[in-house]
Amino acid sequence: MKAFCVNCGRDEKTIISKEKRVFKVRNVEVEVIVTVLKCQKCGEEIYDYKTEKANDLLINDAYKEKVGLLTSSEIKQIRKKMGLNQESMSSLLSLGKKTITRYENGSIQDRTQDNLIRQIRPFNSFLYPQIKEYMDKSPVISYKNYMEHAERKSDKKISFLIQALPV
Ligand SMILES: [Zn+2]
Repeated sequence: MKAFCVNCGRDEKTIISKEKRVFKVRNVEVEVIVTVLKCQKCGEEIYDYKTEKANDLLINDAYKEKVGLLTSSEIKQIRKKMGLNQESMSSLLSLGKKTITRYENGSIQDRTQDNLIRQIRPFNSFLYPQIKEYMDKSPVISYKNYMEHAERKSDKKISFLIQALPV
């Protein structure tokens, strides 16, 4: 592909290279292999929005992993296991409509929200049909309400998990 090189002052062919670099996210250093576009002629780095966005996701995920937060893809996995779309998962956790979308795109969740997302993990296997049924009927529910419903529906003892929920 061709892109504008500031150094050459015109469109030039680009080369893609993978480079290991250190970034600082919220005062934590992370080492990430990022994609860098360079001018084939002079070697100058070329800014590319899509490449930068993909790099940002990798960098933030490296941070999340390092400090023990769920990565973007882990959040996505949990959601998929629940059979939910991003909006339903946000409602389930009483978060803003676009919150899960943002996390999956690389935004960093705080610890409270991270814990909340982790808590829905154990239920997917045996509660899946109930989750689906309930979410279909009432897309906007709180996590606590959902859990109470799930407890009524399920013969498994999960009340201890309700007690663990933040108020
Ligand atoms: Zn150049």
